[in-house]
Amino acid sequence: MTEDAAATTHVVTTAKQDPAGKGQKAAASDGKTYYSYADVHEAVVSLVPALKEFDPAVIIAIGGGGYVPARMLRTSLKIPVLAVSLELYDDATNTISEVGVRKIQWYDERSDTGSRVAGNRVLVVDEVDDTRTTLQYCVEELARADDPPSEIAVAVVHNKIKPKKGVLPENVSYFTGVNVPDRWNCYPWDAEAYGNDIRRHEELARHCSEMGNNGDDD
Ligand code: 5GP
Repeated sequence: MTEDAAATTHVVTTAKQDPAGKGQKAAASDGKTYYSYADVHEAVVSLVPALKEFDPAVIIAIGGGGYVPARMLRTSLKIPVLAVSLELYDDATNTISEVGVRKIQWYDERSDTGSRVAGNRVLVVDEVDDTRTTLQYCVEELARADDPPSEIAVAVVHNKIKPKKGVLPENVSYFTGVNVPDRWNCYPWDAEAYGNDIRRHEELARHCSEMGNNGDDD
């Protein structure tokens, strides 16, 4: 394990790809890494056996990026999804907001699905763990409820290998589909935000795979 990877020693599952090793996608000419729907789907589905063992009663999807991965997981885990919306990044500048995490939308604890959180195992889903600030905030919000979950786990499609600002409690299980280098990731649902239609986005994602280390060299 590299020194950076050791920063995430509470990781329970094994990520599919080694940060510097084979299977990594290269950056496109703009320095960003493009991921296709299939890349995301594969990473998410690779977590299903471990997540079934955790056996959550409900998923909390952190929007907007966690919504699609959470929906993918719903097919396999067959549990409902609650949507919350937390904002850290300024979409206009791709920079971290100075104000920290803002709670834009939370779930209704009195709703049928919302009432599943109290006293049960809960799975928090987001697309990418960057500084970990958002995940820490979400987990702390859940844990400080009057009637908190019995156990919390976190699942992300991608974990960026870097020193983390946020800290997750030891008793929170952590699942990542793929450990990735510390670059900006572009996801298919955001294609237009980067000036691409989905076909162009998927082309770029293919290009990043072809240019990356696809493991053919050993
Ligand atoms: P963190 O709190 O871990 O720094 O950031 C979490 C949020 O920032 C994610 O939910 C995501 O919305 C956004 N984010 C961080 N890095 C990236 C990235 O590389 N690509 C995209 N699209 N969003 C990112």
